[in-house]
Amino acid sequence: MAGLRIGLLGGSFNPVHCGHVRNALETMEALGLDRVELVCAAHPPHKDAIPGLASFEDRFALVQAAVRGVGGLAASDIEVKRDGPSYTVETLKAYHRLTPSAEFYFLFGLETLYEVHSWREGLRMPELAHLAALRRQKDDPGRLPGYVAKHWPEAKASAEGVWEFPSGFSLRLLDAPVLEVSGTDIRRRWLAGRSVHCLVPAAVAEAMEDRRAALERAWRNGPSV
Ligand code: ATP
Repeated sequence: MAGLRIGLLGGSFNPVHCGHVRNALETMEALGLDRVELVCAAHPPHKDAIPGLASFEDRFALVQAAVRGVGGLAASDIEVKRDGPSYTVETLKAYHRLTPSAEFYFLFGLETLYEVHSWREGLRMPELAHLAALRRQKDDPGRLPGYVAKHWPEAKASAEGVWEFPSGFSLRLLDAPVLEVSGTDIRRRWLAGRSVHCLVPAAVAEAMEDRRAALERAWRNGPSV
């Protein structure tokens, strides 16, 4: 039997929202993946220095609430099992050790893909996994061919929005509907006492209320307020 095809959507999930859930589901369906795991960053190297990041425990509890009962989606705490910053390349290696027969797809919003060159060994990701990006409204897909040519000159365009790497993995820009929701916007609304109904799954809204004191403490320190 061929190995499982597993999508990994990494993020700070501060908090998780419906945009993340739809990204995971659209990509799973578009690429015919067996499942998608939302990989909650334990110590994001970039966001660590940024005030306003809720604890891993709180963020992960919300991710668990977001995927409960959603077929094909799972929450992953793989990054909390390692000390130090959560480098994505290390996470991919850990997944390969856990499930050597699986084929992995790392999923992004397009603007996040454009940051990969600044991640530690980020440009090595296509040695370990396929990459797939969903375009959000603010994203400029016209930058992608230049980004690939500059950072991955070895990649060959094989169709519109698709590049093949010598490793056999590919990069694909997906044309799927996107919900324009962001963590920054949700934190701002929620701290202002406004509704986040339909922006986060109902179970996440409930879990946010249960954790209101801790989330407020973290988010009031953030740059978005
Ligand atoms: P913030 O506003 O705090 O930066 P965010 O939701 O954009 O929040 P992350 O939680 O780190 O940031 O996002 C995880 C991944 O999900 C990233 O690849 C990001 O591009 C993608 N993503 C975030 N929001 C959406 C959305 N609305 N639709 C599709 N993908 C998204």
